[in-house]
Amino acid sequence: MEGPKGILLVGDGLGDRPVAELGSRTPLEAAEKPNMDRLAAEGECGIMDPIAPGVRAGSDTSHLALLGYDPYECYTGRGPFEAAGIGMDVKQGDVAFRCNFTTVNDDMVVTDRRAGRITEGTEQLAAAVNGMQIEDVTCLFKESVAHRGALVLRGPGLGANITDTDPHVEGAHVHEAKPVDPNDAASAKTARIVNQFVKKSYEALKDHAVNKAREASGQKPANIILPRGAGLAPSLTPINERFGLTSACVAETGLIKGVAKYVGMKIIDVPEATGGLDSNLIAMAKAIIETLKDHNFVLCNVKGPDVAGHDAKAQVKVDFIQIMDEMVGYLLDNVDENTYIALTADHSTPISVKDHSGDPVPIAFWGPGVRTDKVMHFDERSVTSGGLHRIRGCYIMNILTQLMAIQEKFGA
Ligand code: ZN
Ligand code: ZN
Repeated sequence: MEGPKGILLVGDGLGDRPVAELGSRTPLEAAEKPNMDRLAAEGECGIMDPIAPGVRAGSDTSHLALLGYDPYECYTGRGPFEAAGIGMDVKQGDVAFRCNFTTVNDDMVVTDRRAGRITEGTEQLAAAVNGMQIEDVTCLFKESVAHRGALVLRGPGLGANITDTDPHVEGAHVHEAKPVDPNDAASAKTARIVNQFVKKSYEALKDHAVNKAREASGQKPANIILPRGAGLAPSLTPINERFGLTSACVAETGLIKGVAKYVGMKIIDVPEATGGLDSNLIAMAKAIIETLKDHNFVLCNVKGPDVAGHDAKAQVKVDFIQIMDEMVGYLLDNVDENTYIALTADHSTPISVKDHSGDPVPIAFWGPGVRTDKVMHFDERSVTSGGLHRIRGCYIMNILTQLMAIQEKFGA
């Protein structure tokens, strides 16, 4: 593919706060990262609020914002994004749920919310419930990793404002889903269908061969499916249409792939991209370069920094940043000359917080003709003196597409 290209490289949870163990430096400040620093020195830098100042972003809502979508408008619960992330087709008007394979006893009391953390046989169990018809609604179910799965309800007049069937604790009865507003007929219908689906899943799974074998070997049966987090699939204008792109996504987690799929991006799977600290980032970098041969925009999310942040492991985060720096080096060495790179994070996952915080994150744009500033290092403090100052995530695609010179003029 000819013409300018763009890469949006997101270090998940890359931003941080000063850490005592690192001499009051952030992991980015403590890391040796010559390639990220080169990108900052040759590019234009600033800090960015992924959604808005002080908002603690989830990875999904943040990526929607980074791709130019208003999460307050189009984020309708995790269900649809999870389902899309495991490759299910989610259409406008569908209601989607995250699900657990669970163990219940004969009285419908949950004895293990994760069915003994089942890892095998869920594909066969899913096949036993997938495609079920309840009233005029088709129930599509697919297994995800371990005890997880997703349910998509497709049919007329469904709502998503219902309570969960999963009691979220063991020793409690399976809950009956109810509409939050008793006068909401669409959600009442969904609740009715979900309750029947749960009951039918128990009937279909309790004597299933996979579960008989599990019980025979002393393991807990995955004898019921409990949906939660209902979300009504929104209609979004595809990103390619909005920005004149041919876009693709290289990501590790189902959640990010789900967001990307949702906005119409092609998903590129990299088998060695594990989503953990052992991930092969060079394989991801190679996939980006390869994908840019027939696409003009690639979003890439690297999950590792977030993992280290949640685990509160400062040195692990520093070490992983250094691995990510080699990935940046590979990209700098291998991109076509007419390529722009935006390097940033989807939120901060500070070591001291062990979760996402509302702190802004560093951002740098690099590529031919980009205005430079005096920033020499890619870290939370250095970039604050950069030319971009403080921006919001929703402006990234504007900035990138105007650098790529593919943005239409607003006005005469
Ligand atoms: Zn994230
Ligand atoms: Zn996280």
